[in-house]
Amino acid sequence: MADSTLENLLREERVFPPPPEFAAQANAQPGIYEEAEDWRAWWMRQALERITWYEEPTVVVDESNPPFYKWFVDGKLNVSYNCLDRHLETIGDKVAFHWVGEPGDRRTLTYRELHEHVGRFANALKGLGVRRGDRVAIYMGMIPELPIAMLACARIGAVHSVVFGGFSSDALADRIIDAQAKVLITQDGSWRRGTKFPLKENADVALERTPTIEHVVVVERVGNDAPMTEGRDVWYHDLVEGQDAECEPEVMGAEDLLYILYTSGTTGKPKGIVHTQGGYLTGVTTTHHYVFDIKPDDVYWCAADIGWVTGHSYIVYGPLANGATGVMYEGAPDHPDKDRLWQIVEELGVTIFYTAPTAIRAFMKWGDEYPARHDLSSLRLLGTVGEPINPEAWMWYHTHIGGGRCPIVDTWWQTETGAIMITPLPGVVDLKPGSATLPFPGIGADVVDDEGNSVPLGGGGYLVLTHPWPSMLRTVYGDDQRYLDTYWSRFPGKYFTGDGAKRDPDGYFWLLGRVDDIMLVAGHNISTAEVESALVAHPAVAEAAVVGRSDPITGQAIAAFVTLRAGIVGDEALIDELREHVGKTIGPIAKPKSIVFTPDLPKTRSGKIMRRLLKDISEHRQLGDVTTLANAEIVAEIAELAEHAPEEE
Ligand code: AMP
Repeated sequence: MADSTLENLLREERVFPPPPEFAAQANAQPGIYEEAEDWRAWWMRQALERITWYEEPTVVVDESNPPFYKWFVDGKLNVSYNCLDRHLETIGDKVAFHWVGEPGDRRTLTYRELHEHVGRFANALKGLGVRRGDRVAIYMGMIPELPIAMLACARIGAVHSVVFGGFSSDALADRIIDAQAKVLITQDGSWRRGTKFPLKENADVALERTPTIEHVVVVERVGNDAPMTEGRDVWYHDLVEGQDAECEPEVMGAEDLLYILYTSGTTGKPKGIVHTQGGYLTGVTTTHHYVFDIKPDDVYWCAADIGWVTGHSYIVYGPLANGATGVMYEGAPDHPDKDRLWQIVEELGVTIFYTAPTAIRAFMKWGDEYPARHDLSSLRLLGTVGEPINPEAWMWYHTHIGGGRCPIVDTWWQTETGAIMITPLPGVVDLKPGSATLPFPGIGADVVDDEGNSVPLGGGGYLVLTHPWPSMLRTVYGDDQRYLDTYWSRFPGKYFTGDGAKRDPDGYFWLLGRVDDIMLVAGHNISTAEVESALVAHPAVAEAAVVGRSDPITGQAIAAFVTLRAGIVGDEALIDELREHVGKTIGPIAKPKSIVFTPDLPKTRSGKIMRRLLKDISEHRQLGDVTTLANAEIVAEIAELAEHAPEEE
């Protein structure tokens, strides 16, 4: 940002206090923030209370070599033991996962069954020569063998690197090479809207470039006669047959690696984010307990893909360590129809539901009738993650999914943070639609200007975390310098998130998007998120993305790309109306100079809008890298539409 702070443009006045019945039973009670003021002591209490250790830690955090912090460094544990074995006596027959296949098949796995599967596969991996510290790549869809594979690695001390099952061969190869993985676990194919996506064939292309891979384990899921290479490839079902279900868990140090998860950097090579054992498990169990208010009878559904950090932390490790019953769904939310998720909620009696704003905006676009077909009264708590949620999308979620009764936890965090950092505690914090509200107990966050000075309440700037936290990334795999440069150099002593944020007079945090996306219009820093929110607040609009493009007069001008709700036709009158609407909502400076109606927006595979490409289109530049895009074909279409769009003089 050129200026020291961000304009604070959009105002949102609605407040939703916790319903009294919810507050009365909530895991988090008032006073929790005071209890956590001494953050070191608080995290130590959580670590001792929530984790079963072979040797309890005595050191909270070793701060002798910042920012290479070490948490609970003398503690010894096994993460899979914490997720499975310790539950067997008390809740062994409780359902760990209700799994729903896209074609409609079902599997239910109790903790006892999951423990057996993990034990067998862990022994099988050992049989393939996988040892403590070895890296194992996992390239799968949302089937039970995916968490089984992760837990089997954790059990024997191997480090998993899960690569999202929708990624290309190239993306897979790059990640395998960077981590020097020894074994790849994949499946023959995965279901996607009724068709078979050829995972194994894709993997084979990647494997041409990955000399470190010794064996490939293939789960049979779709029956597509996947090619198998003799001596290297082995079917999962053959491998586990006859294996002992008991596999002694490896005793791990708290700071040993648990997993690597790659996140795309702004340039070039993806970053291998490193998470370790004890601090990570402390972070995810504590946040899962308080943020999702998890109770023994809940049916909890985090509808993310395990290929993203959300799935690692809040489908696998947090919920299982907390002994929760989870839901896993394999397929697309609109297959066979646009009410698939709501049908599952009704059938399984889901009580807690967690998804992304991009999904919520898609539900809005599809129309209210799909959730209305189902009885969603089992729901008691909703969550979102991944992007700033526009207040209008929040309101829609609250009304049409939450029946007006469920609190919504808007959780801000990153692959790098491992666990939720900024979030309401349902039952304690008054909600404001569009705000992630307050730092989680034991987390320090601030908004700073270019010089790193705290910006007073009411102002905007860069979001930083002010002290270490247990589930923080430890480094970028194999690249300590990149860890230092990316996260710790911009503001010495503080972790730089890369996000812009503002705080309102109550100290609530409002996320404004990645700072790279923020626009500079006539000397004012304007957040893409705020202008998008204003657009989405118009009843005709389902989704919007805005970017700043060079303008001879104002430096940058705002270019908007808008998808309309079902049945609405975009014309020039609507363009004028939308410009006026933005002008009225946040001020004339934020009026888009051009508005292009488009059937869809370019998104990453985790659903984040790729503004960078819209910027390329707006500036008639050669398009940047589109390989991580979920819907690459839309880019050409938008470029064509933008070519003919009218512009405000
Ligand atoms: P990832 O590393 O893929 O998990 O993406 C992390 C980024 O997603 C953050 O840096 C934010 O830009 C964005 N993000 C995640 N959750 C939220 C949220 N609740 N509100 C606003 N932005 C979010």
